[in-house]
Amino acid sequence: MVENVVIIGSGPAGLSAALYTAREGFNPLLIKGVGSGGQLLLTTDIENYPGYSKIAGPELIRLMEQQATQFGTRFLEGDVTKVELNSKPIKLHVDDKIIETLTLIVSTGASSKWIGLPSEKNFTGRGVSSCATCDGAFFKNKEVIVVGGGDTAMEDSLFLTRFASSVTIVHRRDAFRASKIMQERVLSNPKIKVLWDTVVEEITGDRKVSGVKLKNLKNSLATEMKIDGVFVAIGHQPNTSLFTGQLELDKDGYIITKDDVLTNIEGVYAAGDVADRFYKQAVTAAGSGVKAALRVREHLSMLSFEESRSKH
Ligand code: NAP
Repeated sequence: MVENVVIIGSGPAGLSAALYTAREGFNPLLIKGVGSGGQLLLTTDIENYPGYSKIAGPELIRLMEQQATQFGTRFLEGDVTKVELNSKPIKLHVDDKIIETLTLIVSTGASSKWIGLPSEKNFTGRGVSSCATCDGAFFKNKEVIVVGGGDTAMEDSLFLTRFASSVTIVHRRDAFRASKIMQERVLSNPKIKVLWDTVVEEITGDRKVSGVKLKNLKNSLATEMKIDGVFVAIGHQPNTSLFTGQLELDKDGYIITKDDVLTNIEGVYAAGDVADRFYKQAVTAAGSGVKAALRVREHLSMLSFEESRSKH
């Protein structure tokens, strides 16, 4: 059996693509990896998804899945280990099976890079976050640190000054990597302090984060700091290793798209953070999933037109 459309990834992009392709009657198959759901599963409460004044990330994903299922989406839990995008139909190796499909939507998302401390993992969602836009509002009048020295760290720090009483950037070097204008904004903001040449060695607390252990890399001085929140902003890693050598990727591994969702291979579309180094919001990911679904509709109707013409 050859599928009409397979979607890889079960974040808002994949689930929105599933909803739309299901309502078109394409009977989509969505492959979700183990631990699926994307970055929303790391978010406690969402206040910026239109239509919901407040909803937990996992609950929003659950509702999206329910809605996609209602119209006929089929879900398969499994790991895609290999793809053959240039074959016709497209071949996907999922665990020990091969799935063939006429079209494919890649919505494998991007994963935040983490520092790699065991304590960071323990406190994720309890004071440690990698998404200032999602979680910043929960730190009203609290003291937070932001780890990183790139544009994301600058942007997150500036955003967090709206809520937090103080924001301290902890950066491992003595210069930021961020663009000049963002650096200037940060360095001229009286609410933001910078600890240069410093790394976080441990995050401390009981049920929630209450402090960090820091180390200055130049003089090896260890210090402790009381804080309520740790925002890790050391970059994102698009989940595209599976597609290397087949889909065109930029230097950081994001899928290069044309007209928002078209990839270099006909019938293969990219949606959500896997192709988005800028917006990275649940609602923008959902929107791009919809665009990919509409392109699938266009492509499938072209294929069926060609097939019926070849029969006459
Ligand atoms: P990035 O530019 O790669 O910066 C990551 C930062 O995290 C660097 O300062 C890096 O330190 C630090 N870092 C990396 N690994 C670390 C670790 N293990 N421990 C401590 N620090 C670590 O990532 P980004 O800031 O997410 O930006 C990604 C891209 O998106 C960039 O091209 C950026 O310009 C763009 N962007 C643009 C905007 C905007 O224009 N408004 C906003 C956000 C992002 P080093 O400097 O020492 O390497």
